[in-house]
Amino acid sequence: MTEINCPVWWKSTLEDVEETLALVKRGTVTELARSAGGRPIYKVEYGKSNVKMGSANLSSALGAHDVKCFADKTGDDYVPTLFLDGAVHGGEFEGTMSLLNLIKEIETGTDYNGDTHPTLMDLVSRVHLVIIPVSNPDGRARIPFRSFLGRTFEDLRYYNQGTWKKDGTLCGWPGCKTIHPIKEASDFLGAYFNDDGYNMMHEDYFDNPSNETRAVFDICRHEAPDFSVLLHGGTNSTSSILYPTYHMRDAWEEVDTLSHAFEAHLKAEGLKYYRNEKGIYASYCLPEAMYHICGAPCVTFESNQGLLDAPGDTYTAEVIHKTHLILFEELCRFILKKFGKI
Ligand SMILES: [Zn+2]
Repeated sequence: MTEINCPVWWKSTLEDVEETLALVKRGTVTELARSAGGRPIYKVEYGKSNVKMGSANLSSALGAHDVKCFADKTGDDYVPTLFLDGAVHGGEFEGTMSLLNLIKEIETGTDYNGDTHPTLMDLVSRVHLVIIPVSNPDGRARIPFRSFLGRTFEDLRYYNQGTWKKDGTLCGWPGCKTIHPIKEASDFLGAYFNDDGYNMMHEDYFDNPSNETRAVFDICRHEAPDFSVLLHGGTNSTSSILYPTYHMRDAWEEVDTLSHAFEAHLKAEGLKYYRNEKGIYASYCLPEAMYHICGAPCVTFESNQGLLDAPGDTYTAEVIHKTHLILFEELCRFILKKFGKI
């Protein structure tokens, strides 16, 4: 399908993931799992965590009044961990684009546009960075183009949420969440879902979650990230971190601190941010489940997708990319500060 307004450096397909991961020498690439459709889910890792994993899961450790029984982060040489997860919804790959450019720059010194970001590179080199470029490759595979830049809101609804089998109408948002799993009820299965029709954001996490979701949980369980961000696209929304609803007060306050720092940095660059402390998404969804495994903030970031006609501003490719890089920078700075490393 013809690309509209999509720069050559905008890498986001599963082939682009393979091409970028083939460059990885400074980091490590691991196949975490296979999706419902049999596609590989990759983890890319830079730096090494020296967290001492303990003798208990988080719940038991908190029950023992000693979180170190889950993960001991008290050592002077502790290196904090940042977990960045792309394309949980397969049609929201703005984050994937920025992650692939980040990996390219770490590996070769320049991103896919030939640009350098020395401050970000310095910060990234000081943390333990864990990346899943595409968490839902089945969904990503259903979208035959590299970006939604310049496409219509109806295109987005069709490809992301799909159509109903009963009458061919668009499932839409949030109507696509009224049936889960949606596979048998859908005609065109939207990119929200894996090949079994599961939406990772809204699984019953206590009852046999999908392989895709288990891969995310395994990182929370074994790496104990200090901050985890699911990189989503939210049509033409203003850049926003969704505040959690089911986090303890201290973790909520960490999200608030990060949110303010991100907002200030964006505004200094002339970019917009929408701070929503109220947590409008009150459902118990994937980042909340992750939090209950690792005990540190896990949030959704909603990027603008550069659509032609959706409500809100239409961001350019450059602004979408820059916004993600600022987010990555502030996340690194936040976790380094938290552990007294800067
Ligand atoms: Zn999403």
